[in-house]
Amino acid sequence: MSMVIITINGKEFSAKTGEMVVDVARKNGIYIPTLCNMEGVIPQGSCRICTCLIDGRTMAACTTPVSHRMNVETNNAELEKIRTTIVELLFAEGNHYCPTCERSGNCDLQALAYRFNVLVSQFKQIFPTRNVDAKNPKILIDHNRCIQCKRCIRRMGGSGKPAWFSFKDRGHKVKVNIDHELTADFTDEMAQKAMDTCPVGAILKKEKGFDVPIGRRKYDTEPIGTEIEKEGAKL
Ligand code: SF4
Repeated sequence: MSMVIITINGKEFSAKTGEMVVDVARKNGIYIPTLCNMEGVIPQGSCRICTCLIDGRTMAACTTPVSHRMNVETNNAELEKIRTTIVELLFAEGNHYCPTCERSGNCDLQALAYRFNVLVSQFKQIFPTRNVDAKNPKILIDHNRCIQCKRCIRRMGGSGKPAWFSFKDRGHKVKVNIDHELTADFTDEMAQKAMDTCPVGAILKKEKGFDVPIGRRKYDTEPIGTEIEKEGAKL
């Protein structure tokens, strides 16, 4: 595999051909916010929160492969505005009531809202009518909180594996569907993996929602991105 040199925020880094910008940045301790992207899962570039300035154009860092002498800017006022707007849109589109959500303190969307100082969305709240599907013996899906990132679909099935999760309907009616027949014998491990795959509180393992007390959850102590930025400071 050949190597290329790319510049991120004015510093040069070597990267393997084919690697995505977001992964190279992450490896080198540079945090680029993500929601639909997950390490080890085929990227799809749908949420656009990872939008960076790449060779002068705004592009999704999770689906842009590196090229020799590429120049990447991961943060500036314009990018911050784009990301803030995306977070605000996601909040306006769904029913996200953080204080009552089991994933509060452990939710990437909420953590990004804190990072971008989103206190209230500039967009009109839609308040859609959505249900909670709790038919599965191990997990439940709260459609009110789903941001349609497709991480569950891409990580938990498909390409040769049984499609446990899929999208149903189209446009603004699209929602994640769980195959109740295929998932009837979901193990605890599978249920936990599904819950951990979801960046928000849409997939919950039954009886596990409040396992970690408030105050000791992932983002209660450290804001999102800190872990990567701390690694970067050591390099
Ligand atoms: S259920 Fe969770 S992981 Fe699946 S699409 Fe919705 S937000 Fe993403």
